[in-house]
Amino acid sequence: MSKLLEVKNLRTSFKTHLGEVQAVRGVSFHVDKGEAIGVVGESGCGKSVTMMSIMRLLADNSVIESDGIIFDGEDISNYSEKEMEKIRGDKMGMIFQDPMTSLNPLYKIGDQLTEHLIKHKKISKKEAWQKGIEMLDLVGIPSPEKRMKQYPHEFSGGMRQRAMIAISLICEPNLIIADEPTTALDVTIQAQILDLMKGLKERLNTSIILITHDLGVVADLCSRINVMYGGIVVETGSDEDIFYRGRHPYTWGLLNSVPNPMSEMKEKLVPIEGQPPDLLKPPNGCPFADRCEYNMKVCLENQPPLFEVGEGHKCACWLCHSDAPKVESPIGREE
Ligand code: SF4
Repeated sequence: MSKLLEVKNLRTSFKTHLGEVQAVRGVSFHVDKGEAIGVVGESGCGKSVTMMSIMRLLADNSVIESDGIIFDGEDISNYSEKEMEKIRGDKMGMIFQDPMTSLNPLYKIGDQLTEHLIKHKKISKKEAWQKGIEMLDLVGIPSPEKRMKQYPHEFSGGMRQRAMIAISLICEPNLIIADEPTTALDVTIQAQILDLMKGLKERLNTSIILITHDLGVVADLCSRINVMYGGIVVETGSDEDIFYRGRHPYTWGLLNSVPNPMSEMKEKLVPIEGQPPDLLKPPNGCPFADRCEYNMKVCLENQPPLFEVGEGHKCACWLCHSDAPKVESPIGREE
């Protein structure tokens, strides 16, 4: 498969009155065409800031640096705001957690749905309206002709999320970045929205980056997973590498804190104790050291590199060094 997006050594910081917050500290990853990847981690780990940096949607006090952001063969890291605006409307779509913050309450759904289409695809209002109806139908909104003329407050939570997905998809972007798209929804609607995204990926060959704090949500949709902590990727691998052969103590913690999405059995869930590091003063060593029961002297002094632990499976933990003591994985998940 060929790469649609490649992010090289992304660093994002925010200038605040307290100092510089180093929210993303050297993140690299790629997404293939037609592939869905998951980015998981607790809030504040840098997952949303990473994606907002790629789309250049951050506030003015942010500083975004990288060794390149290659999208569809072009390095977009130095694109002007005007060029980025075109990419955002046309080739990259974003779905946010709360559609009410991204839908304008003053405009009809149909107008919001067709706005980008008229602007970026240069088609007539009439054609765009018809495409809008088809798109609402595609995302499972009944009576789409009637719904086009309604305002966001006339839609239920699940319907608004579907409308957001329709808006993100209407220009047929190559990439959709979905940031906690189902967190505010009940489990039934959550399952429907995930099924919908899966279907669209298969039908339109759209690539998806799904950002979530919930490993259960990525299990069904994503073939690869990046686990983020303290502004870096601490483990990356296939869904099976992460669920069954996870090597990082933070990944173990995450897996033990959510029900196993691949098992019917009831398990005892254990929250991860402690707090994430202060990114105003990031530690020199492993960012998870304060919360890690396995930490060693080297962990406090040096940030571990991403060790190759399997094909396409990498882990930033000193336990993966060949001289490290052998530690049994406590996750006990069977393939
Ligand atoms: Fe724990 Fe050390 Fe591994 Fe960090 S590098 S996760 S502190 S064992």
